[in-house]
Amino acid sequence: METGFSFLTLRHKLERTPGRSSYTMSFQLSPALQAQPTPFYHYDLGLLDQTLTALQQAAEPRNFLVHYALKANANLPVLERIKNRGLGADCVSGGEVQRALEAGFTPDHIVFAGVGKSDAEINLALAADIWCFNAESVEELAVLDALAGAQNRKARVALRVNPNVDAYTHPHITTGLAANKFGISLTDLPGVVAHLSSLPNLELVGLHAHIGSQITNLQVFAKLSERLNELQTSLSDQGYNLPHLNVGGGLGINYEQPDEQAIPDFEGYFSMFERHLIRRPGQQVHVELGRALVAQCGTLISKVLYVKQSQQTNFAILDAGMTELMRPALYGSYHYIQNLSSHSAEQLYDVVGPICESSDTFRKGVLLPETQRGDLVAIRSAGAYGEVMSSGYNLREKAAAVYVGE
Ligand SMILES: *Cc1c(COP(=O)(O)O)cnc(C)c1O
Repeated sequence: METGFSFLTLRHKLERTPGRSSYTMSFQLSPALQAQPTPFYHYDLGLLDQTLTALQQAAEPRNFLVHYALKANANLPVLERIKNRGLGADCVSGGEVQRALEAGFTPDHIVFAGVGKSDAEINLALAADIWCFNAESVEELAVLDALAGAQNRKARVALRVNPNVDAYTHPHITTGLAANKFGISLTDLPGVVAHLSSLPNLELVGLHAHIGSQITNLQVFAKLSERLNELQTSLSDQGYNLPHLNVGGGLGINYEQPDEQAIPDFEGYFSMFERHLIRRPGQQVHVELGRALVAQCGTLISKVLYVKQSQQTNFAILDAGMTELMRPALYGSYHYIQNLSSHSAEQLYDVVGPICESSDTFRKGVLLPETQRGDLVAIRSAGAYGEVMSSGYNLREKAAAVYVGE
């Protein structure tokens, strides 16, 4: 039991639709949680478990190794669930490496990626003897080699390539185009591979790519596979056959209709790689998923402070804002919003937070049942890139996290 609320709780009712990988669910707030001070993050660990089961049913028969990208949500109860399934950890900072270790991921299941690793972060990861560094530049390799040498260690390295594949997602979460800061360009790669082989304290074990996030067009992963196939062929010609291939993360979720598709299409995702990616003999293929594993199990619960009427619109002013959930302000992203307290006729509202910024708007023109001060509002699909991005701006206190489900 994670908290005193564990079984009185808000319930997600999950029904498996036979023969389909989608799930339907309904969402209600239990009386016990209606008295919980707002705003708070609500995590349904039962849904997380079902998501992980669906993930493993799709990944294991096809022989993919899955790492969880901690940056999506690094709360310990979430991490423990994921670690207990035997997944690895994909970290992008020293803090995340430390958190992964705290949560019980063993070093041989930890990968450290990131375009700007500091010396202190690299040293921490070297001392822990993590499984692999995903390196992104010649400059980084030089530092990694020197720091590994100073610790008398050999660091395993995968080179992050920038495959120049359009993920067809929001520009701010596109990472695999030539114009993005991430990875090593295809033209530079042969030279970097040769250079790496000359560095005494590094061992090249694989290639890595991660082209973006919230990818809903699965054809993008076919494109990525084809690009990686070409790359592997040219590396083979150079005499390099690498034992590991990491294709990154990025599988998107259904923000518009979280109740219709609570669990992402893992079958479609893995079968796309299975069909298009050519593995070298004995090669292990890794994926790093964040959002797809945790987004739907998190909901931000908030209370309506005021309904303010202006000539142009009605504002529903919540006690949660961009300090709790920044995605709408940062990317203009959509979250499904529900009034849990009212069932009256629907009207249009601009749903906003209390922070002193105009971008502190969850969405304009939201159709909600007639809304009043004190109503509880659920902002759905907030389990990924929600709480981790929260800030103390306006000297706001951090919202609580409540865990439900067995
Ligand atoms: C953010 C990130 C991921 C996870 O992305 P999702 O879209 O959440 O699946 C995977 N790998 C790397 C290197 C990342 O930076």
